[in-house]
Amino acid sequence: MENQNNPNIIDSENKVQEAQQEKQEEILESKIYKCPNCGNFLSYDPKSNKLKCEYCDTLVELQAVEDAKELPYHQNVENQFIAWQGVKSIRCRSCGAVTMLSQYETAAKCPFCGASNIVELDEIPGLQPNGILPFRISKEDVHVYYKKWLKGKHLAPFKLKKEASKQPSQGVYIPVFTFDSMCNGTYTIRYGKHYTVTVGTGKNRRTETRTRWYLDSGVISNFFNDVQVEASKSIDQKTLSKLGGFDTDNASSYHNQFISGYSAERYDRSLDESFSDAVVIMDSVIKQMIISRYNADVVDYVNMNNSYNDITYKYILVPIWVFSYKYQKKTYGCIANGRTGKIIGKYPKSPFKISAIVLAVGAVVALAVWIYIKYFM
Ligand SMILES: [Zn+2]
Ligand SMILES: [Zn+2]
Repeated sequence: MENQNNPNIIDSENKVQEAQQEKQEEILESKIYKCPNCGNFLSYDPKSNKLKCEYCDTLVELQAVEDAKELPYHQNVENQFIAWQGVKSIRCRSCGAVTMLSQYETAAKCPFCGASNIVELDEIPGLQPNGILPFRISKEDVHVYYKKWLKGKHLAPFKLKKEASKQPSQGVYIPVFTFDSMCNGTYTIRYGKHYTVTVGTGKNRRTETRTRWYLDSGVISNFFNDVQVEASKSIDQKTLSKLGGFDTDNASSYHNQFISGYSAERYDRSLDESFSDAVVIMDSVIKQMIISRYNADVVDYVNMNNSYNDITYKYILVPIWVFSYKYQKKTYGCIANGRTGKIIGKYPKSPFKISAIVLAVGAVVALAVWIYIKYFM
């Protein structure tokens, strides 16, 4: 309150604030995110949505970014992509994955397979994404989800469950293209409906199922929003959908601050290839929409002529946590959705638990046989 009467204090406070802000901007502009307090590297912290120093817990505000923009898609648009600045690429000699790191970071391990056989590449790191969906699940949180997931796996060894919180996990962004499009199509469909008839006489009297066939045609239209196509070498489309997809509508414009402390995979499939994949996905959705119009028991064929217009795309990085660990000389991998914590993957099955189940099933069968022999034979 007193400050209001003393312009000097306000002035000096403003100066301190200004200086702080300048320092913050300097940190963010420099692309080397160093802690203003201790000089160590800052990484993106999903919990506070700020940059955080791992050593002294200092938090630094992020630079404000807009939402990721939809860009018009047409052939050759990929040539207009800009080069990815402020990152360097590394390649895993073991699994071949090419990932990006903030320029100042060094990687000890491949985020996908855990191998330490890594080389830095001199080539340009590829094209810069126009959007990024930052991690929402932190490293601590993902271990809670992982533990819970393992708990539900009754065949997983006790030892593994016990050590779940110690399993190493790596945060990595994978490349995804999303497409919006208006689809207009025409189609013809041949479908059948079953009916039963009674045939024969006397002893031969019986019912038979027959099919009545229909031919129809029509028009269909549908707007697709953010059809997600993986452009990754390490994650396939099936895995992407198993992960439950990503809320790409909430993506921010790309900024290096979000990958600080993580790595990001370079895209492996081109924009045009990915659009062809999107068309396959959208065509199959349209086909299902057509079929659902008819109360058919069987569909012979659906011929479609779909045209896709007003196509826009986003090239977005989405976050996943990768667990890769050795258990009794075998490597296992699990991945978690960095937005929802959903986990999919393989886990070692305890031979002890499996043999216990085999024995238990065997015992039930033996008992059944014994009862059968004793009472029914
Ligand atoms: Zn610090
Ligand atoms: Zn690897």
